[in-house]
Amino acid sequence: MTSVQVTIAATGKVLNVPTGLFINNEFVSSVDSQDKIECIDPATENAICSVTAGSATDIDLAVRAARNAFKTSWGKNVTGFERSRLLNKLADLMERDAQDLAELESLNNGKPVKIARDFDIGDSVACLRYYAGFADKIVGQTIEIDNKTKVAFTKHDPIGVCGQIIPWNYPIQMWAWKVAPALACGCTIVMKPSEFTPLTALKLSELIVEAGFPPGVVNTIPSLGSVGGAALSAHLDVDKIAFTGSTVTGRKILEAAAKSNLKKVSLELGGKSPQLVFESADLEEASKWAALGILYNTGQDCTAGSRVYVQDTVYDAFLEKLVEKAKALTISHAFDEKSGGGPVVSKVQYDKIWSYIDSGKQEGAKCILGGVKRSGKGYYVDPTSVRLLLIYALTAYAMTVFTEIRPDMKIVKDEIFGPVLSVGRFATEDEGIELANNTSYGLGAGLHSNDASQCMRVSQALEAGTVWVNQYNLLYNNVPFGGKKQSGIGRELGSHALDEYTSVKAIHWNYGEKLDWPL
Ligand code: NAD
Repeated sequence: MTSVQVTIAATGKVLNVPTGLFINNEFVSSVDSQDKIECIDPATENAICSVTAGSATDIDLAVRAARNAFKTSWGKNVTGFERSRLLNKLADLMERDAQDLAELESLNNGKPVKIARDFDIGDSVACLRYYAGFADKIVGQTIEIDNKTKVAFTKHDPIGVCGQIIPWNYPIQMWAWKVAPALACGCTIVMKPSEFTPLTALKLSELIVEAGFPPGVVNTIPSLGSVGGAALSAHLDVDKIAFTGSTVTGRKILEAAAKSNLKKVSLELGGKSPQLVFESADLEEASKWAALGILYNTGQDCTAGSRVYVQDTVYDAFLEKLVEKAKALTISHAFDEKSGGGPVVSKVQYDKIWSYIDSGKQEGAKCILGGVKRSGKGYYVDPTSVRLLLIYALTAYAMTVFTEIRPDMKIVKDEIFGPVLSVGRFATEDEGIELANNTSYGLGAGLHSNDASQCMRVSQALEAGTVWVNQYNLLYNNVPFGGKKQSGIGRELGSHALDEYTSVKAIHWNYGEKLDWPL
């Protein structure tokens, strides 16, 4: 069976969801495995359905399909105009199905439907259109050599078959960030969604067929990371891996690439991103951005602003405002239109977050908000209060806040990937910068100040791929995104993403020089 009917309990809507492997534009069973991935609704802990778990052999078949498409119907066999047309068509279909996709995303991931629809999917549609615009504008250079006998020019060829391994925190958005530039450049794809959230990648595969992409251009293989992800990373006929996820896994992928065919690898990894609040900042605004930084997507965000350092003179006033903002956010089930955040994605993630909250207490940090576990169904990290509601019977405040922290504490050093914030203090600008940069990561950083020179100085000094000044966590399709230090290699979004999916060829042309021989 390669599809099931899934009922969205909150709305009564019934969705047809593919559950097979998507190879050559068809949903198929595994050739050699009976393994299944059980998909869970994190709000209720109930099973939604199970999907086929692809084996290493299935990955190999998908890679062959992608290679064949690259050589015949895609790659250099399709014009940029046609790639652009198909990407725009895909965007239209995603926009048409935004509500259904959002409900499925929410069911499998736990995030509020309105956020999935208006932000994750809204941004994904825009991402497809943004790269559709590039598809017929991928051009090289003409380089003069001597103006008389020789010239060179460059071509930006599609790199080939791309393995794309995506996480569970933004299943649709990470799909769009990777698929759109790859297709615009003429690459073919084997997509491996996270085993925690495979449903929307399968649903989007239906749209690939409807949009009219030739068979084999996009293939989707749900699989465990250690099986399908590892097989893809080590495959000798994959030209590139694009990955978003943990630093631990990123390292394994880089190793597998090095040991196999030295395929190109881009990695978007974790972070422990700081926000600095200076005394001249508008504290009302800074507290909202700081709350957004740690609460967006229930803290399951690679740029989560999980460390906030506040200048001594405004520390108390800022903290009071921050707690106020955290208390104002409604954490609820995905189908509550008032919900600003939901449960975390899985039991594994829930237990991991609570082990960090426990370690913060044991290591001597002061817990000023939250930190009290509740009982009941759903992976809600809801520290302070539980209020009864109709459907999944709960609403809660949003986060745990620790103060009196030290740099050696696990809650300050490690990526928690949940709504847990560490707040520290500093006296001088230099001290603030040093605290902010005291991490092995370098993904995002924020600063809040109304002193323009300070904004310029500090944004230069912060070691991160993205620095937000008087805002936080906002990303745009036309601005590059990626990490420094152990937060990654390469850039997504903007024109920089095209470099990840192309291989530059230099062609040297002699139209006049006679070779003087012997030398
Ligand atoms: P992960 O890195 O293990 O998983 C991300 C993706 O990698 C999934 O598709 C997974 O199947 C795949 N994968 C796992 N092992 C693999 C392997 N050996 N080879 C190839 N692919 C493999 O992340 P996770 O276990 O889902 O979450 C663990 C932690 O990672 C989280 O708590 C969080 O700290 C971090 N994380 C970060 C991001 C991010 O956007 N930076 C996203 C998700 C998780």
